[in-house]
Amino acid sequence: MNTNQEIYLDYQATTPVDQRVLDAMEPWLRDQFGNAASRSHAFGWEAGKAVEEARTILANGIGGQPREITFTSGATESNNLALLGCARACKERGMHLISARTEHKSVLEPLEALQAEGFEVTWLDVDREGHLKATQLEAALRPDTTLVSLMHGNNEVGTLHPIHELGTICQQHGAFFHCDATQTFGKEPINVAENGIDLLSASAHKMHGPKGVGILWIKSRPQVPFAPLMYGGGHERGIRPGTLNVPGIVGMGEAFQVTHESQSAEQNSIRNLRDALWEKLESIEGCTLNGSSSSRLAGNLNVSFKHVDGEALLASLEGIAASTGSACTSAELAPSHVLLAMGAESATARGSIRFSLGRGNTAAEIEWVAKRTQEEVKRLRELSPLHKMAQETQ
Ligand SMILES: *Cc1c(COP(=O)(O)O)cnc(C)c1O
Repeated sequence: MNTNQEIYLDYQATTPVDQRVLDAMEPWLRDQFGNAASRSHAFGWEAGKAVEEARTILANGIGGQPREITFTSGATESNNLALLGCARACKERGMHLISARTEHKSVLEPLEALQAEGFEVTWLDVDREGHLKATQLEAALRPDTTLVSLMHGNNEVGTLHPIHELGTICQQHGAFFHCDATQTFGKEPINVAENGIDLLSASAHKMHGPKGVGILWIKSRPQVPFAPLMYGGGHERGIRPGTLNVPGIVGMGEAFQVTHESQSAEQNSIRNLRDALWEKLESIEGCTLNGSSSSRLAGNLNVSFKHVDGEALLASLEGIAASTGSACTSAELAPSHVLLAMGAESATARGSIRFSLGRGNTAAEIEWVAKRTQEEVKRLRELSPLHKMAQETQ
């Protein structure tokens, strides 16, 4: 099958590289191959300058300082670095950490590794829409709480956390606040100072940049304590050594700029398309919305259809690229940990399908996807003994 004919509705798994990003990166993959750490010739100076320009764009975009940005291989690394690096450096002060069960695996698993090292983690509950209240965080904070990790926008169900309120409470209690902002970086307004954020993770490939590059922003005034995970070379102020990925970093700077400059207009048009899709799917009997009805990522639509298996539906929607749960859980065939944490029954969690919309989607595509989904839900239900039984007992 020609994959170019597929309708892509999986923007929360990854996004295509924008042409403007590709153009900005190209020279750095060709003639301008210098090592940004080389201080004795123009090849190095030019590369170093390009890296600093990207660093400045990214820092300015969130109200931080350029030297507070550390380049990484992506948000998985940034999250690991933030949690392991900060929690261990604060060990003398306390060993209590707070997070939520709906976080990305790259937050959950380092926290579980810290638990195995003797740290204690309080897992905050979320409601049926994936929301948590600032008062819950307040109640969980203790004098020995050093670090709180809560995401901005959930990658599976799209629910947005009130980071400003959460950050303010952390500040009042003297706990550091790490925010995984991978799904909102460039797309939703974020200001690290105003939002009380101490560490922030983001990734280029979720906003039309290249894969394999991300940032960890770490507050410097006052300096957040930090213990590196890798040693050698002293790059990135020793926080994350290794020769810098110059083309990737240039690409991330450009991707942020492109996304950020049309932020509200683009997100509004994506939200309108998403709402149009929901309006059509909502009319299918037994269709439920997973996640927030009030505060969610513009492009996210996560739905379940009663008596329809999500995997089966996805497989029958040929030519439409969407996913069940997140890209990571879809490889595992396990019910989504996010939906289970939200109190969904395992059948609903297994039945869910995530359409995530983004740059380039059209109203015609959405129309087609809605029509095909209606047809396939109907067809699969006709094949379902469970559905038949439910119909007969009505
Ligand atoms: C995609 C994603 C990650 C992982 O980012 P990578 O750059 O792919 O490692 C982490 N957190 C969230 C919320 C994500 O959506």
